[in-house]
Amino acid sequence: MTSIFTKIIAREIPSDIVYEQENLIVIKDINPQAKIHLLIIPKKEIESIDHLEDEDRELLADMFFAAKKLAYDLCITWWYKLHFNVWKNWWQEVMHLHLHLLSNM
Ligand code: 5GP
Repeated sequence: MTSIFTKIIAREIPSDIVYEQENLIVIKDINPQAKIHLLIIPKKEIESIDHLEDEDRELLADMFFAAKKLAYDLCITWWYKLHFNVWKNWWQEVMHLHLHLLSNM
């Protein structure tokens, strides 16, 4: 599976990267649905929640801790929502796991 996000992680496609650590990257959504719309994306190619394995537990936790850090950095600590879309090629357009962070603050 090679998604558009894999290409963004590899810098083969440009994107607005706002944060990066060893196992994940955070970019601005190209089609924002709120004033702030970020995508927290694991570098490991995992298609969806359904494809998570036991070994991914720490990675998943890191995605939430990245969300918490970004919320602090952006001063939106109490005013944001997080969501995963899970419905292949319908709600979930890009089949590479990603956590949406949205805020209108
Ligand atoms: P999904 O529906 O899969 O949960 O959400 C995928 C998100 O990725 C959408 O909000 C869409 O706007 C965003 N997206 C799709 N392609 C690109 C891209 O090439 N660059 C960026 N930055 N976001 C993208």
